[in-house]
Amino acid sequence: MTASNSYMRAAVLYGKQHVELENVPLPQTGPGDLLVRVRAALTCGTDVKVFTRGYHAKMIVPPSVFGHELAGDIAAVGEEVTHFQPGQRIVAANSAPCLDCSFCRRGQVNLCDDLLFNNGAYAEFIRIPARIVERNTYELPPHLSYADAALAEPLACVVKGLEDTHMKLGDTIVVIGVGPIGSMFVRLAKLRGAKVIAIGRSRAKLQKTLTLGADEIIATEDTPDPVAAVRALTGGHGADIVIEAVGKPETWNWSVEMLRRGGLVNFFGGPPSGTKVELDTNLLHYSELTCKASFHHTPRAFREALDLISAGHITAADFVVAEAPLAELPAVLTRMMEGGGQLKTAIIP
Ligand SMILES: [Zn+2]
Ligand SMILES: [Zn+2]
Repeated sequence: MTASNSYMRAAVLYGKQHVELENVPLPQTGPGDLLVRVRAALTCGTDVKVFTRGYHAKMIVPPSVFGHELAGDIAAVGEEVTHFQPGQRIVAANSAPCLDCSFCRRGQVNLCDDLLFNNGAYAEFIRIPARIVERNTYELPPHLSYADAALAEPLACVVKGLEDTHMKLGDTIVVIGVGPIGSMFVRLAKLRGAKVIAIGRSRAKLQKTLTLGADEIIATEDTPDPVAAVRALTGGHGADIVIEAVGKPETWNWSVEMLRRGGLVNFFGGPPSGTKVELDTNLLHYSELTCKASFHHTPRAFREALDLISAGHITAADFVVAEAPLAELPAVLTRMMEGGGQLKTAIIP
């Protein structure tokens, strides 16, 4: 192995806002696993949450390595791995379904009873477990950069989220929230032929979404009633589809209030657990509104996300603002936590 004495540098999460850079043993790989040299690991809002709270109910119990959006080179393959070889450039998803439980058999593989998660991208090396090797790992086309490829994970969530809305060509789609996820929704909805209205707090931040394809922007810092603003932009009817990518009760309410009759909202942004919302039942009933939520991604959506990136429709240049070495990860996460800024940094271990 290339790392000296079978040790590697890795970021270890110990608890609330406590991350240490350490020498840890190289991950042990089984017969179906890959060992991957990480070339780019992207920061993500989920990691900031994990850093802020010190754990993740489903995915991470400290002390633990973490980080889940990655691309890299195969350093070693288990003896039972047949379709990958050392030296290949790959992107691996952070999960794979069992394909055997009742949810998987229904085709709702993202809701798998036994969804296997993988973490540990903020390190020189990461183990990709056999199930993810088999079902959710892909070789990169030669022209694709590692940082571009690592966008496949968040984009896969967006691909599935938009698919779940059953949008049609020409639909008016409102996207509330213009962090990386909201911005990807803007881009993808435009690519799929929607008319897109982006809503965010600051006018300055919204300018960027215009270059990604937003047709209209509404800045809440100078438009106190975004619901009325959407109605004004849609001939009084409201939007066909609203994507809520903020995760606050207030914006959940805006979402249903700015829909047309028969419209659909995707509550994509998850508020903190324990949050309850009050929704106008008359509005839901008499306007025949559809309320939907989307969680995570599927191998199919991941593959499609990688195809969109390969084709140049989504690039890191639009979503990743900086590069930093592994040693700077704690500072980067602290900045993201304090600034509330969700812009991505590519960590290069
Ligand atoms: Zn992520
Ligand atoms: Zn399953």
